[in-house]
Amino acid sequence: MAKQTTTDVIEKSLLDLHDDPQFIPELKDEARTKAVNSLITILSTPNHVHKSYLRVARENGEIERIPAFRMQHNDTLGPYKGGIRFHESVNEEEVVNFSALMTLKNALHEVPFGGGKGGVAIDPRQYSTKELHQICAKYVQYFAEILGPDKDIPAPDVGTSAREMDWMMSEYKSIQYGKPYLGSFTGKSVLNGGSLGRKEATGKGVYFTLRYLLHDYLNKNLQQLSHSQSQAATALNCLNRPLTLAVQGFGNVGSVMATEAYNCEFLNNTIIAVSDRNVTLYNPAGIDISALTNYTANNLGDLPSSLEQIREAGVQAEILDREAILYLNVDVLVLAALEDQIRMDNVNRVRSRIIVEGANAPITGEADEILAAKGTLILPDILANAGGVIVSYFEWLQGRETQYYSESEVFEQLLTKMEKTMRTIYPLYFGANKSLRQTCYDHAIKRISTILYTQGKLF
Ligand code: GLU
Repeated sequence: MAKQTTTDVIEKSLLDLHDDPQFIPELKDEARTKAVNSLITILSTPNHVHKSYLRVARENGEIERIPAFRMQHNDTLGPYKGGIRFHESVNEEEVVNFSALMTLKNALHEVPFGGGKGGVAIDPRQYSTKELHQICAKYVQYFAEILGPDKDIPAPDVGTSAREMDWMMSEYKSIQYGKPYLGSFTGKSVLNGGSLGRKEATGKGVYFTLRYLLHDYLNKNLQQLSHSQSQAATALNCLNRPLTLAVQGFGNVGSVMATEAYNCEFLNNTIIAVSDRNVTLYNPAGIDISALTNYTANNLGDLPSSLEQIREAGVQAEILDREAILYLNVDVLVLAALEDQIRMDNVNRVRSRIIVEGANAPITGEADEILAAKGTLILPDILANAGGVIVSYFEWLQGRETQYYSESEVFEQLLTKMEKTMRTIYPLYFGANKSLRQTCYDHAIKRISTILYTQGKLF
C-alpha cells in the first residue's frame, strides 16, 4: 500500500464534510459537489513549489550542490508560514507534506498565517559553522523574492535554531535593504528581535495539550461525555490516577516537554523513559529530568549513553536501545523526534494508551488507523505541537510594533490560545465518532473552505 500523505487525509476530510449539513449550508446539490471537488484540488496540491541546488564551497575547496526547497502550500489565512529543516532525509514530497500540515495547524489555532515549509538536504553535523552560515546565506539569496514578512515567514525546525534564523534574517536585510525585515524570520535570538519563550514554546504547548485534556477538560465535563468511542474511554481511564510517561526525543521539544511533566503539580505523572538518537534510558521508578537537562546542556545535547556517563549525569537508569522507547508499557508515549516513527512494520508492538505528537507526522497514515481501531488516543501534531508557530506569530507581532512582551506574558497568551482551540475541539471530538486527528483536520479545513467560499473563490 502506498504511504498515506497529509493530502490524502485532507481529501478524506472534504468528502466527509460534503455530507455534513453544517458545512457551508448555502451550497446545495450539484454546486456542493463541485465546490468540494474544487476544494480537494486547491488543498491537496501546494500553491507553489520552489526548488534549488545551493552551490556551497566546502572547507576542503570542493563545491557541493545541495538540494533546497521552499514549499508554499496555501495562503488563504495569511502569509505562508513554517520552519526550515536541515536533515539528510529532506526531499520534495516530504516538504510538501509538512507544508500542508502547517496550513492545517495555523487554521486550527486561528493563527493568521497560511502554510509553508522549507528544507535543505544535509546532515548539519557534517558541516562547519562557516559552511552552515554559507548555506543559510545562499538559501536566502535564492529564495529572497518569495520570502518576506507579508509573503512567507520561515522559522526553525529539525536541525535549525535561532542561530540560523539570525543569519538568514541578516542576509534578507541586506538583499531587501530599506524594507521591513524583523518579521521576515521568526525563532530568532532575543537579541535579534526574537520573542522570549519562543524556544520553550513547542514543548510547553505539547505538555499543556495533555494536561488540559486530562486535568482540566475531562474533570470539568465528565457528566456530558459520551463514552461510545474506545479512544475517549481510554482518556477517561487515565483520569485522576498516576500516569507513566515515555518521551522519544530529547531535543528542543522533548526535553522541554519532559521538564514540564517533571515539574507539574496538576498531574501525578512519572517519566519512566526518555530517548535520543543513541539510547533509551529507562527506570520504572522515574527519571530525574533536571539532572538530565543539566547533563545534555554540557554534552552537545546528547543523553548519557554509557554506565559511566549515567553516573556522571547523576541519574539512575537502565540503558536500552533507542527504539525500545516505542514499545514500553506506558500510559503516555510522547513522540518528539522525527516523522514516521510508528509504521505498519512496528505498530503492533506499541502498547501505550495515549500518544502525543510533539514531532510532525511521527505516525504513518496506515499505522494511525490501526492505533485508532485499538483504542489508542492520539493527540495529533497539528493540535499538540502548535506552540512554536503560535509564539512565532507573537514574535512577528512584536517585531511589527517593536514592543516586546515579558516571558510570562508570552506563556500566558500561548496557553490561552491553545486552550481556546481545545475548548472548541474536545467537545466536538467527544460528541462525534471520529478520531481526534480527523476532528482537528475537519475543523481546520472547514474554516479555510468557508473563508474561500465567502471570498467568492468556490463558484
Ligand atoms: N517548525 C515549527 C512547526 O513545525 C514552527 C513553525 C513556525 O514557527 O513557523 O510547527
